[in-house]
Amino acid sequence: MVKYNDETEIVHGVKYDYPTKDHVAPCHMTSIYRFDTADDGSKLFNGEQVGESFLYTRANNPTIDQLQRKMTELERGDDAVATSSGMSAIASLVMALASPGDNFISCSTLYGGTYAYFTNEVKRLNIHAKFLNSEMCNDRSIIEKSIDDATKFIYIETPANPTLSILDISMLAEVAKLKDIPLIVDNTFATPYLQKPLELGASMVVHSATKYLNGHGDLIAGIIVGKNPYMEKIKEYCFHMGPIMSPFNAWLILRGLKTLAIRMDRQCESAEYISRMLDGDDRIKKVYYPGLDNQIGQEKFDRQMKKPGAMVSFEVNDGIKGGKSFLDNLELITRTVSLGDVESLAQHPASMTHSTYTPEERKKAGIDDGLIRLSVGIENIGDLTRDINNALKDIPRK
Ligand SMILES: *Cc1c(COP(=O)(O)O)cnc(C)c1O
Repeated sequence: MVKYNDETEIVHGVKYDYPTKDHVAPCHMTSIYRFDTADDGSKLFNGEQVGESFLYTRANNPTIDQLQRKMTELERGDDAVATSSGMSAIASLVMALASPGDNFISCSTLYGGTYAYFTNEVKRLNIHAKFLNSEMCNDRSIIEKSIDDATKFIYIETPANPTLSILDISMLAEVAKLKDIPLIVDNTFATPYLQKPLELGASMVVHSATKYLNGHGDLIAGIIVGKNPYMEKIKEYCFHMGPIMSPFNAWLILRGLKTLAIRMDRQCESAEYISRMLDGDDRIKKVYYPGLDNQIGQEKFDRQMKKPGAMVSFEVNDGIKGGKSFLDNLELITRTVSLGDVESLAQHPASMTHSTYTPEERKKAGIDDGLIRLSVGIENIGDLTRDINNALKDIPRK
């Protein structure tokens, strides 16, 4: 049961009482656990509780368990599975829930890797992703009409990558419930500190823990948190397929996670400042940030997010050329993909993360050729704005 506010739970969370009274939980780098007797081993294999009941790290491990429990509390779920990457978490969801001949509804504005996975690997298995753009996903009648008997789930990101459109979690969860299918929300951009999709009716959330949860850009990991009975199925699938997280990565994420609230507060504050600064600049066609006016799904923002997040996207003049010039002129902000790091990172979706889309697909998903995606870090705001202004120097004014 959650006893404290998020900022406190994020620091303290689930505590284990080890005989050695460790202040910080040790990292349990072990694949197996001894049985005191043959009978204990036999009981464990029958799924019975024996002591702490650890059997094999593919099934569970004390360090991974601690992260899973902490994320279960923060997201208000029933259970969680930590995975080797965000992509293996997403793949496990699809594989556990859909079979050949099935389909699912997905917003087309997605993490580039998710889109590539849905269009290549999943399609090969004769599972069909029905893509709808952000505006269509916020239209209840379009969603209802798109669901048929073979539809197994609805999959969304909100804020969606890279245009940061906000999708209406409560409405989508209501439609999903009526049709008796789960709504899955990729909560990577918001984290449970800013948004709790399960409280709004979603059945499962998925994270790339590589990003804000860990926050330090030094590992790849994922996690699924959700409600039963769905999580029982997901856990069983993951035990069979083995896409699990290393205990060491779980230990590092537990460490990184402790500063999530203060990182996010600082990063959101700077992102808000940068988005307002860019919004009036005539070298920029459009700024995407949930805290600004005229954003897709903006009216939903207040209902489902505590703050607008720390990702800012903007379209510079001059398309691909302008986008590349901005990146090449950066001195402080790192030119790279990924996000959620304490360091600020910038990338150009059309030539990088979303080059998995064809130009037509990018257009449909609302991803402009001059779009820059900025992940705002915790640096001094004056240094960040100076670097951004300097990087805009070769972009023509229109
Ligand atoms: C990075 C990311 C993923 C994939 O996660 P990996 O940890 O890189 O496998 C999925 N969704 C979103 C929104 C992401 O940003």
